[in-house]
Amino acid sequence: MTMSSADILVSNGIVLTLNNKNLQIKNGSIAIKKDKIIAIGDTEEFAAWEISKVIDATDCIIMPGLINTHTHAAMVAFRGLADDLPLMTWLNEYIFPAEGKLDEEKVYRATLLACSEMIMSGTTCFCDMYLFEDAVARAAKRSGMRAVVGEVLYDFPSPNYGPIEQGFAYSEMLIKKWKNDPLIKIAVEPHSPYLCSPDLLKKASSIAKSHDLRLIIHVSETESEVKNMKDKYGLTPVGHLADVGILAPNLLACHCVALTDEDILLLRQFDVKVSHNPESNMKLASGIAPIPELLETGICVGLGTDGCASNNNLDLFQEMDTAAKLHKVNTFDPTVLDSTTVLKMCTIEAARALGLEEVTGSLEIGKKADIIVLDTQKPHLIPMYNPASHLVYSARGSDVKTTIINGKIVMEDGKLLSLDLKKTMGDIAKMAKNIGNQ
Ligand SMILES: [Zn+2]
Repeated sequence: MTMSSADILVSNGIVLTLNNKNLQIKNGSIAIKKDKIIAIGDTEEFAAWEISKVIDATDCIIMPGLINTHTHAAMVAFRGLADDLPLMTWLNEYIFPAEGKLDEEKVYRATLLACSEMIMSGTTCFCDMYLFEDAVARAAKRSGMRAVVGEVLYDFPSPNYGPIEQGFAYSEMLIKKWKNDPLIKIAVEPHSPYLCSPDLLKKASSIAKSHDLRLIIHVSETESEVKNMKDKYGLTPVGHLADVGILAPNLLACHCVALTDEDILLLRQFDVKVSHNPESNMKLASGIAPIPELLETGICVGLGTDGCASNNNLDLFQEMDTAAKLHKVNTFDPTVLDSTTVLKMCTIEAARALGLEEVTGSLEIGKKADIIVLDTQKPHLIPMYNPASHLVYSARGSDVKTTIINGKIVMEDGKLLSLDLKKTMGDIAKMAKNIGNQ
């Protein structure tokens, strides 16, 4: 009989699999070989295994890495640049001028900082929409993160690719370049129904469909967007997307704050996925997305932070806490969005929203090893009656001790291994001096 062996054993912790039975193991271990999870079970089952590297998770929670379904990673460079302003003032007077100073290298450096923050707060996968997305893909890969990235497309010329025809060409280039990458997946990302003509939307959708990729778009972020779309097209943004013919299971609609009952039925009918970004919607005073209704209707919802300038961090533990509480107070019902539901919105449902449910989002044999280990020996986590409750209501990103992505340890015992953290932070602090004095 040959002895079982693994490259890494994450051992002796409380395992939350987030699989479809929501299996938890009190004293469990997970074996990893190359990039995959090969075994999950009680720690004693692994006593005779031959293991190259043991990660001791005593007094820790072992769980799937968190997934951020919507962000603009490089916007960490604008963290705290402008707060407490009306949306249009914020965008036109601060964010757009600051973005005008970006180039490929700056987006790359800023994304490295975002990846550091995400890895160190337990995020193993993010979905990005921005300019110079090849730089975002390179930064994600260098930091060892899984990512879905797509170049933002709109009717006016882009500082990256120029006119929209070249935006489609740039997207096709990304699709070709990153086709077989183990970490990076490309999406096609028209900005929104108000910045994209029906022709643009149709073309983007057909590119996404022909390569079997996600189509990702901001939809119904504010009531004023809905009003403008009604004035222009006589339809709500969701109604307009239905009219254009791009509602489909591969569509990820971000925000979805201002929805009508008909919009919700359309989203369900076409199995559209939704990214919920509560902190950004709160900070920009956009409104509250009807998430309990969406879930009740059977729509897949994942959580996202949105860009850092409207949040102002990428910590998904804070986002989960906010999401759970926001919908309780909004509905005067403390039973909506219970902790397990919210945890799933940041793990398996988020993976489903991105089309990665076969790859990541839960701890299951055969899936890629995207795993985080969270230290529970902290005053704010004692005692612990229910791990899921702690993860949503008490834990912070900084409680994450070790992060594994695609079988590689990218942070161990609080130390980032895949990047030079000091240099990464220093680069952006330097860059900010130029951005700040506009
Ligand atoms: Zn956004």
